[in-house]
Amino acid sequence: KLYNEVQDLKGNIRVYCRVRPFLVGQKDQGTCVDFVGQNGEIMVANSTKGKDSYKMFNFNKVYGPQAPQDEVFLDAQPLIRSVLDGFNVCIFAYGQTGSGKTYTMTGPSSTAKQDWGVNYRALNDLFQLCQSRRDAFAYEVGVQMIEIYNEQVRDLLAADGVSKRLGIRSSSSLNGVHVPDAVMIPVANSSDVLEIMAVGQRNRAVGATALNERSSRSHSVLTVHVQGTDLAKGCILRGCLHLVDLAGSERVEKSEATGDRLKEAQHINKSLSALGDVIAALAQKQTHIPYRNSKLTQLLQHSLGGQAKALMFVHINPDNDSYGETISTLKFAERVS
Ligand code: ADP
Ligand code: MG
Repeated sequence: KLYNEVQDLKGNIRVYCRVRPFLVGQKDQGTCVDFVGQNGEIMVANSTKGKDSYKMFNFNKVYGPQAPQDEVFLDAQPLIRSVLDGFNVCIFAYGQTGSGKTYTMTGPSSTAKQDWGVNYRALNDLFQLCQSRRDAFAYEVGVQMIEIYNEQVRDLLAADGVSKRLGIRSSSSLNGVHVPDAVMIPVANSSDVLEIMAVGQRNRAVGATALNERSSRSHSVLTVHVQGTDLAKGCILRGCLHLVDLAGSERVEKSEATGDRLKEAQHINKSLSALGDVIAALAQKQTHIPYRNSKLTQLLQHSLGGQAKALMFVHINPDNDSYGETISTLKFAERVS
């Protein structure tokens, strides 16, 4: 109840900021994160300009570098329940390459339980909830996993790994606009999903050999479709959960980028701005929401706005050298929150 009230006040998106710790072997050159408050405040300082140059931002919450995975998931958890109640939900990871997006969503490569990322925890919760309601509802759960690269949609679960380009179109059976031609794999428990996520990651990596580090330049979207049949009334509730690991938000210097790299950068820039524009338009209750400006916003059209719920984890690096990117990330986040 309270959660919905907060949502109404703040538009439909909640924004959480996560500060990555310094990594093992990374020189601790000092941090630009000056202060993290208990109520979502974060202050960053520009070390080259002395201590006068502070900027303060405010979000729903800020996780410091020591925040463990389970603490981060706690804030996403209420949304998982909403999916079973028939809502569409988006959870995004935003930030420059290396800031911890994949760490938050997928987790590190270890499989230790405490390291599990949001994706796995979310699915685990979802199946537990399905189980607990099984006397009243019969649930069917299916998973799709796609990647958007240079404004083209690619199926990460296609059997051959190198699928044709997919279109985004309206499909009544799938809750509105979706990618009906992407493979949908029925799943019965969270280990099924783990397996599928591994396949998707592998297929993503296949593309990466040709285009060095492709994963940082494409958006990956894991979509979980849930259909629940009310056993007493016979009616059907559908909800879906999109777990989105966005492309790196870093700006490329025009002088540095040429050819393919420049084209990639322009596509990323365009789609991340389109996402920001859509969320900002929704928050301001504008009548025209510019969904059509990118593949990402088209794909998520029915899961952003209306009754849908969204949450964004915005990631920043702790070091002084990242100050410029950190500020632009926090400005993006401030605009959508
Ligand atoms: P991105 O997906 O944004 O490019 P990654 O998730 O790959 O960034 O993170 C970059 C590196 O930092 C990885 O080695 C990852 O394991 C590590 N890392 C990121 N966030 C954390 C964190 N909260 N705690 C510990 N290590 C982290
Ligand atoms: Mg990543």
